[in-house]
Amino acid sequence: MSPYKMSGTTVVSFSGGRTSAYMLRQVLDNNDDLADLIVTFANTGKEHPATLDFVQECSERWSVPIVWLEYRDDERGFAIVDYQSASRDGQPFEELIRKRSYLPNPVTRFCTIDLKIRVIHKYLRMVGCSTEETPVDMMTGIRADEPRRVAKIRHRKTTSESKHATMVMPLADAGVGVRDVTDFWKAQPFDLMLPTINGRTLEGNCDLCFLKGAKQVYSIIASDRQKAEG
Ligand code: SF4
Repeated sequence: MSPYKMSGTTVVSFSGGRTSAYMLRQVLDNNDDLADLIVTFANTGKEHPATLDFVQECSERWSVPIVWLEYRDDERGFAIVDYQSASRDGQPFEELIRKRSYLPNPVTRFCTIDLKIRVIHKYLRMVGCSTEETPVDMMTGIRADEPRRVAKIRHRKTTSESKHATMVMPLADAGVGVRDVTDFWKAQPFDLMLPTINGRTLEGNCDLCFLKGAKQVYSIIASDRQKAEG
């Protein structure tokens, strides 16, 4: 059976990158009934504008609704936004840092967990489709050529929110590597408008993410000093 075939409620966690967009396209192409598909995009407020444009373009061109979510430091813990209202000034990230009173770092990478994973899970619980009795399948865009990430997730088997979702990696199961993704996008009439080196996006994810090299961060700041303010 195709690894993209859904069995029950399935969440595609769309990061806004080429790989997860490729995964979404495969899911759309391999399922006749998409009633049980939920596609989410968790915006940190520090994404590159091209990423937001790309998410919206995938949604429009492929006629697939995408739920845009953002972290909020309030009782519900998140807001549902859209392409127009999505934060472009870092608001969700700033709210989280103020709450935690310290910055995320490679050891304590709470930003990914709180701004993305938990926000998606809270949304799923709100719409009543993610419970301990009926965990959803959570498709994540990890490729076969990312063996360490694959092994880590296989080891965990379920997400940190565990019982409510089962992590599935259809790209890894299908043996998809960066080359397949690059070739796919070369043949498309649109693309994520961010430069790549060897198929890897240079300015994807949060603009000044601590996981990027110092050189890369300096060059991003040099091209737009406002990104380092606040
Ligand atoms: S891209 Fe970097 S800064 Fe942004 S949420 Fe992920 S780890 Fe944190």
